[in-house]
Amino acid sequence: MDHVDPRRMIPRTNDLLALPAVVEARHRLSEHVIRGTVRGILDRARRGELPPTDVEPTLLSALAEYQVTSIRPVLNATGVIVHTNLGRAPLSADAVQAVVTASGYVDVELDLEDGSRSRRGGGARNALLSACPAAEDALIVNNGAAALVLATTALAAGREVVVSRGEFVEIGAGFRLSDLIESTGVRLREVGTTNRTHLRDYEGAFGPDTGCVLKVHPSNFRVEGFTSTVALEDLGTVTRANAVPLVADLGSGLLAPDSHLPDEPDVASALAAGADVVIASGDKLLGGPQAGLLLGRREIIERLARHPLARAVRADKLALAALEATLAGGPPPVVQALHADVEQLRRRTDKLAQALGVPVVAHDGRVGGGGAPGVPLPGWALQLPADLAVLLRTGNPAVLPRVHDGACLVDLRCIPAADDHRILAAARQALSVRAGQSAGQG
Ligand SMILES: *Cc1c(COP(=O)(O)O)cnc(C)c1O
Repeated sequence: MDHVDPRRMIPRTNDLLALPAVVEARHRLSEHVIRGTVRGILDRARRGELPPTDVEPTLLSALAEYQVTSIRPVLNATGVIVHTNLGRAPLSADAVQAVVTASGYVDVELDLEDGSRSRRGGGARNALLSACPAAEDALIVNNGAAALVLATTALAAGREVVVSRGEFVEIGAGFRLSDLIESTGVRLREVGTTNRTHLRDYEGAFGPDTGCVLKVHPSNFRVEGFTSTVALEDLGTVTRANAVPLVADLGSGLLAPDSHLPDEPDVASALAAGADVVIASGDKLLGGPQAGLLLGRREIIERLARHPLARAVRADKLALAALEATLAGGPPPVVQALHADVEQLRRRTDKLAQALGVPVVAHDGRVGGGGAPGVPLPGWALQLPADLAVLLRTGNPAVLPRVHDGACLVDLRCIPAADDHRILAAARQALSVRAGQSAGQG
């Protein structure tokens, strides 16, 4: 009997593409996804990894399960509120609704009354100004780093930005603010030393080449010991006397002081202290979308808005909508997590601990995202075996716990109470997979 090469029984590409279920999938999936999936499965069959009779069912289930975005939701059980790897601030329900609205054609740059072009994102700007009346004007750009580059470029291109050596911040993933500023041809005039900078250091640097003074809040680290920095108030006095603009990069994005974070700078206080422009991020403590906020004196904000770079770093309509709704709506998740009631956290944690039969330990949350370094936010965590972490991360829903001191800690601070049952289900699932694994090994 002739030996038939099983590969000759592998379905042909065109026959697979003509299957009714594949034709139907074209309403949900793009052509390149469908063809890529077909190609991948046929390659496996040709390599002998998949029997020819399995090609069609494998293809149909792959298309049915295909997710058009690879970004997956994660339950943040780390206790770190602004978690950079998890996309920083989760949006409020109001902001989510605003994003959905803004996803269509919208009047982001149109005056519906007279049909003419309007100032882009006027609503978000007004919301920012009413939340921070100390500012005469505001400009919203793509993110905090863009705001910093725009401000320093518009005020000091080809000239100098005076900045203290103690404020050369690296903001993560190897990006340094100093490199960012110099990338547009601005020269940095470093003054003082790493640990101590005095008012006279700044004054000594002023000259005809001075474009502006920059004060950076060292948001993601703390220097302790023999240190000295110049208060914004004092710096404001000398910059005003020398007619040099003072830019304050706060990073975190509090618009007004927060009683939970007494040492964290805020926009209103920085303006009152004499900053001409204050820079903050939209997705840190403000709890909104990624955005760079520039607030300050009208004349300077207008100068920045007119600079060509402003167009290159302009904010997206989705971000503008979300920012306005964050400012005008109820407290966003970041603010709720920051002000979470410790007793209530304890009750929720106890309930899950009892259901799972695991201990509760004291656990400090953190602001994170380069905010309030070293400030503990007292709370609680479920204590689970360390090897549960990977099972929680890869489960459904994905849960990110904190692995610390040989334990897997689940902190509910950043979990909405309505999701406690999902944490419970995920932990049960992970514990049972783990029990199965150790039984298999035993
Ligand atoms: C986070 C931060 C930035 C960068 O802001 P992004 O919104 O992340 O671009 C700049 N300066 C300081 C002090 C920061 O903390």
